[in-house]
Amino acid sequence: MDNYFNSGKKELCNGCGTCALRCPKNAIEMVEDGEGFLYPHINKEKCINCGLCEKVCSNFNKTGQESVAYIAINNNEKELKNASSGGMFYILAKYVIENNGVVFGVTYDKELNVIHKYAETLEDCKQFCGSKYVRSDLKNTYKEAEKFLKDGRVVLYTGTACQLSGLKSYLGKEYDNLILCDILCHANPSPKVFRLYKESLEKKYSKKVKDIKFRSKENGWRNQTPIIVFNDNNKIEENTFFNAFVKEMINRQSCYSCMFASKSRITDFTIADFWGIEKVKPNLDSTKGVSLLTVNSEKGKKLLNIFKNNTSILEKVDIDIASKYNHFNNVPVHKNRDKFFKSIENGSINSDNIIYAMNKYTRVSIVKKILRKGKRIVKKALNK
Ligand SMILES: Cc1cc2nc3c(=O)[nH]c(=O)nc-3n(C[C@H](O)[C@H](O)[C@H](O)COP(=O)(O)OP(=O)(O)OC[C@H]3O[C@@H](n4cnc5c(N)ncnc54)[C@H](O)[C@@H]3O)c2cc1C
Repeated sequence: MDNYFNSGKKELCNGCGTCALRCPKNAIEMVEDGEGFLYPHINKEKCINCGLCEKVCSNFNKTGQESVAYIAINNNEKELKNASSGGMFYILAKYVIENNGVVFGVTYDKELNVIHKYAETLEDCKQFCGSKYVRSDLKNTYKEAEKFLKDGRVVLYTGTACQLSGLKSYLGKEYDNLILCDILCHANPSPKVFRLYKESLEKKYSKKVKDIKFRSKENGWRNQTPIIVFNDNNKIEENTFFNAFVKEMINRQSCYSCMFASKSRITDFTIADFWGIEKVKPNLDSTKGVSLLTVNSEKGKKLLNIFKNNTSILEKVDIDIASKYNHFNNVPVHKNRDKFFKSIENGSINSDNIIYAMNKYTRVSIVKKILRKGKRIVKKALNK
């Protein structure tokens, strides 16, 4: 069977780094490529050809578990406001912290790099709220999680399904005290593109960027425009990076053929936005955010029973209906993706021109816009 090591195909590596962590000779280092994503690099002098890297590789098809889907909303207004969707993550985090547990999630470091980290207080968990639409650096968190698990602490680990698959491969055994919750990720954008984007904003406005809130609910859950916060606390709305992400132009190669994009999930819970709620259950629609929660294991079922009192809405829904308006399958590659990344690699797209380039490469031609509009009008007329 093809894998990254025997084929060199980049689409077969999700960058979890389990191979590097488990290599008995420390012969593997995770190195950033020209597109800005991490891949294993083998030091041939240290390698003993034991094949363990191929055995622990987490990027292969795994049979997931039968999922039950719910429409869900957190009953705490403040927690709901801080969340991207319906605030399910924070409910889980609260349960874990109240049980002397540890929560792993995604945050920014001081330079605004997107990283995984752990928190032991609820206050500290707040930094994980809100989606950061960039591939996160897992740092040392698999090892840290393993230590907490061995010490008997309850551990909630959140991240993308491929990152949780990596953790499972790294641990190599089941832990009763481990709760896995993946976000329904449709793709992960490049950290290098994000860095250049941040630098370009700093050049343009001649001040440092302090925070990027991808999903502020200031204009409601559906009308979210990313907000850039500068170090003088001034804010602007800026959509270029987010737009390139949703148009699938700046993603990791493995995302376009993701092994985990399916209704069968490998974790205890999957959390997502309930896109299409206005069609599926109009009476439960809300401008404050609605989650799609899938419960994927017996452990998940038991936990849901404990924390269901923290929801204002929790209603079962057919998974086929719930998934209809969301990404439970692979996304298409944007036609300019490779061209864009080639220019990133050779430096012709850089922090001086990246905003212009992202806008140019994702622009839809006027002819296409007219055709799309025409299609919509015809469809509407036929439905009357
Ligand atoms: C890259 C990416 C792609 C996504 N694609 C979709 C999609 O196609 N459809 C959909 O319905 N939802 C998608 N989501 C999930 C959605 O944006 C929300 O994160 C999810 O619904 C949880 O919301 P919440 O209100 O429960 O939690 P929040 O309080 O918003 O908590 C955020 C949770 O997301 C985790 N997180 C934040 N950034 C990252 C990151 N870069 N990588 C891994 N984990 C992260 C945090 O650790 C925390 O667990 C995506 C999220 C990301 C980060």
